[in-house]
Amino acid sequence: MRLRMTPDTALAHSIRQDLTQFAGILRTNGHNWDVMGLNSRFNPDNTLSLAQVKEYWRIFLAGKKTGDPAAKNIDFYVNIPFCRSICSYCHFHSSTPRKGEIGGYVDNLLWNFKFFSPVFKGFAFRNLYIGGGTPSLLSEHQLKQLLDGLFKNFSFSHTGQKTFESNPGSACSSHFRTLKEFGFTSVSFGVQSLRPSVLRLNNRHYKDSESVLTAIARAKKAGFGDINADLIAGLAGDDVDGFKQSFTRLSKFLPHNIVVYGLLPGNRYLAEKLKMSSSYYFTRYYPALIKKLLPFMREFSEKAGYTTDLLEPFKWHWGFRRHGQASPDPKTNYSGEHCVCVFGVGLFSMSSIPKILQYRQTMLPAKTNPSAKTHKARRYTPREAMLGFIINKFDQGSRISTAEFSQTFGITLDAAFPYALRALTFLKVLDRQPEFYVFNFARCEHKYIYTLFFFREQGHTVTDTARGPR
Ligand code: SF4
Repeated sequence: MRLRMTPDTALAHSIRQDLTQFAGILRTNGHNWDVMGLNSRFNPDNTLSLAQVKEYWRIFLAGKKTGDPAAKNIDFYVNIPFCRSICSYCHFHSSTPRKGEIGGYVDNLLWNFKFFSPVFKGFAFRNLYIGGGTPSLLSEHQLKQLLDGLFKNFSFSHTGQKTFESNPGSACSSHFRTLKEFGFTSVSFGVQSLRPSVLRLNNRHYKDSESVLTAIARAKKAGFGDINADLIAGLAGDDVDGFKQSFTRLSKFLPHNIVVYGLLPGNRYLAEKLKMSSSYYFTRYYPALIKKLLPFMREFSEKAGYTTDLLEPFKWHWGFRRHGQASPDPKTNYSGEHCVCVFGVGLFSMSSIPKILQYRQTMLPAKTNPSAKTHKARRYTPREAMLGFIINKFDQGSRISTAEFSQTFGITLDAAFPYALRALTFLKVLDRQPEFYVFNFARCEHKYIYTLFFFREQGHTVTDTARGPR
């Protein structure tokens, strides 16, 4: 006898098949459930030249997308891809500079500024972020040259933030004074841990908490009213108590913001430093660590006068801001937006033209040949832009504003992703509230697997497991 499938049994069957396939994808990905890695599933990379990139910005700014609020809020990012030593856990494309290399690099940036400035004539960028790498490795002279060139060629809004990323070991007072003269509003320190043994084991350039205290004091003395310090949870050699000590001590140095990042280790770091498998780290070690740290972070933020975003588990970053601190940390600000619009300059900088294109500069452009293909790019279809929106929201937490989605894309979430929402409702992991859809991720890997339902909707191939840059 043949059974007739009802719509519900057909749906259940399809969901079962999908779940099996998605679990396989996660397994192949080393159980790494970081949803931002799913960005790499979009179009295969194209290569673009500096001249082509310039043309995309020209078209964007010429008004083709002026209906998009993002067109009015473009941030500027400058990347300095050099560090004094390379941290063992580093994911970024940073290197120790050869003699004279930083000077040549600054020259190239200045040329880039001139090349692009005509496109942005009459336009004021919102925020400016100089990051890396370690921008504080620039000499005083190089920093002045860079900032002179930058502000001669581009305009910035008076209300935006201007942030400089600094390593506690190379932060000096003269840098801070120069930055102040150029109107910088905030400094961000990569502290990561205050335990000397952890810093040593991870090949951090600075080796003691004294450097952090001094660096923060210097920035305050120079007049910075917005100082951010980052910590990392999960570093080799650290443990729950060690992290708590770093967090508590750091708060006593009174930075205005603290951002805690969860460690996303590569295979080599897992094998050599953490000495555990990828599967163990992502499904057991990290979730257990965060489960222990969350109550502490909650209690800490209440007592120490910090406010925080939703302290949800199964995330990779949490921001803490001192009460009364007006401006948010730029990094959390950037990542908190669904349609980030960033113009990046410098080797390995990422740029994003909302709903159109995301690209990374992978080679230094030669001044003589702006037509050389120096950028890797991903062109978004409108549907991929929607997936990017969902990935960003899941990176931030577990809720999606239905109104924000509709306003951004001119279509409701239900109309755009009927199958995914039916499947997640069927699985009883979707709570439809008036303004938000709230997703219940009972285990860390659910976030990744449920996101794949949205990919499945679009008919995307879900077999590619390459991990994208964070
Ligand atoms: S300071 Fe940052 S960019 Fe430099 S090596 Fe360490 S992790 Fe990488």
